[in-house]
Amino acid sequence: MAFIVKKKIREKEYFYLNENKRVSGKVKTKTLAYLGKTRGGAEKRAEEILNSKKLDKKINEEMEQQKISIEELTAFCKRKGFVYQSGEIYGGLAGFWDFGHLGVELKNNLKKEWWKYHVYQREDMVGIDGSIITHPQVWKASGHVDSFSDIFVVCKKCKKPSKIDKNEIGTAKCDFCGGSFDEKTAKEFKLMFKIQIGESAESYLRPETAQLIFTNFKFVYENARMKLPFGIAQIGKAFRNEIAPRDFLFRSREFEQMEIEYFIKPDSKCPYEVLDDEILIYSAEAQEKNIVPSIMKIKDALVKGIIKKDWHAYWLATEFNFFKNLGANPKNFRIRQHKKTELAHYSSDCWDLEYNFPFGWKEIEGIADREDYDLSQHEKFSKKDLKVFDSDSKEKILPHVICEPSLGVERAFLVFMFDSFFFDNKRKNTILKLHPKLSPVKAAIFPIVKKTEFENMAKKIFEDLRKDLHVVYGKHWKEIRKK
Ligand code: ATP
Repeated sequence: MAFIVKKKIREKEYFYLNENKRVSGKVKTKTLAYLGKTRGGAEKRAEEILNSKKLDKKINEEMEQQKISIEELTAFCKRKGFVYQSGEIYGGLAGFWDFGHLGVELKNNLKKEWWKYHVYQREDMVGIDGSIITHPQVWKASGHVDSFSDIFVVCKKCKKPSKIDKNEIGTAKCDFCGGSFDEKTAKEFKLMFKIQIGESAESYLRPETAQLIFTNFKFVYENARMKLPFGIAQIGKAFRNEIAPRDFLFRSREFEQMEIEYFIKPDSKCPYEVLDDEILIYSAEAQEKNIVPSIMKIKDALVKGIIKKDWHAYWLATEFNFFKNLGANPKNFRIRQHKKTELAHYSSDCWDLEYNFPFGWKEIEGIADREDYDLSQHEKFSKKDLKVFDSDSKEKILPHVICEPSLGVERAFLVFMFDSFFFDNKRKNTILKLHPKLSPVKAAIFPIVKKTEFENMAKKIFEDLRKDLHVVYGKHWKEIRKK
């Protein structure tokens, strides 16, 4: 049975949807979702969640999930108008993709839902939209000019080029054939696209959206009258001159990111509850000792010290729930901690949210603790004071970024496409069971009877709905059934 509970944290009220379940004779309570800060909003959200659960249960009884390869998904996306290779009539350009009439709707819905969940539904978050090209010093300060690179290697066996990380030289194997890489071919490869501005100036296409958040941080803090802890969110294009773009949208040269920088007073505690979610947890220790990852509650991983900071556990659960709430299959997710050799020098901990793609477990979202590295660097390079006045402690503070959840729109797009492929046993056809909030088409109007009065009524409904939603007007129902 599901019910709403109210919790008081630091004099503020938060509503959650809980469920009681009998497990081995004992009644256990599980938190299903965070519902917001008002009773009215919580009731509405709870109803939505419970209705979609009921509908899901009914549909699931008739459907069977289909496993498809990335090549099959690529072909499907082209056939149905989701995604085309960019410039295909000229032979295409590796790493660049165009979204078709359904793809653009799904992608826009995905971004809209991300924005609602992370910005509108929170009091501690505001958004910005930074420019794609900015002052080149931004990229010097961030460290990208000097060290944003991969290692280019060629496989000894199949001769295909690949990218590896610096710490993988000598150990990595080729993804295509499992062969070893020729170390003699290993060279550093810079990932930023250089561009000319005007006649003589130069800069770069941004390789991430995050730096624009740091450079605007103090303006936003003051103009939006934020108080720590708070976050700034952004969605936008990023460009990386990837050595070997592959796996359809997974690794491309032009993509979009949905990123947050979450700022706190150094060492402050997280006031929010960590949602009660179970997920496959692959700690750095388990990877180093070759131990199989285990399913655990994110909360418990925090108590056991596997996840070091409460804020980090909170954001990992929050990000996992973004996918769960939109109907992704939780069994296809895990969180993987970066090993010491992967960690940037300024980062004390980093976890990736990974998805079990047909080509293996891969990162879809990085969630790093960046401390005060970025703001300090921009203070140093710009010679501007980026400290802010904290009205509680009456001091000037350079906040720490406790978490930087950074999610690629296209990787999330792939997740929802894979998780929504089902076979309808009753009708014997493949269907795409996307969450209604993501679905490219919200409704289709089919006049049941071929009579003017019915058709006029159907058209009126269509005209009303299309004012707010993407709806289609179908052919006469009987004509469709005849096919
Ligand atoms: P990878 O190790 O797969 O190259 P990364 O660790 O370099 O990824 P980040 O810099 O953490 O990636 O970027 C944050 C997010 O941006 C990634 O989790 C991913 O979703 C997305 N992203 C990064 N590079 C690409 C790319 N080339 N194509 C599509 N999405 C990308």
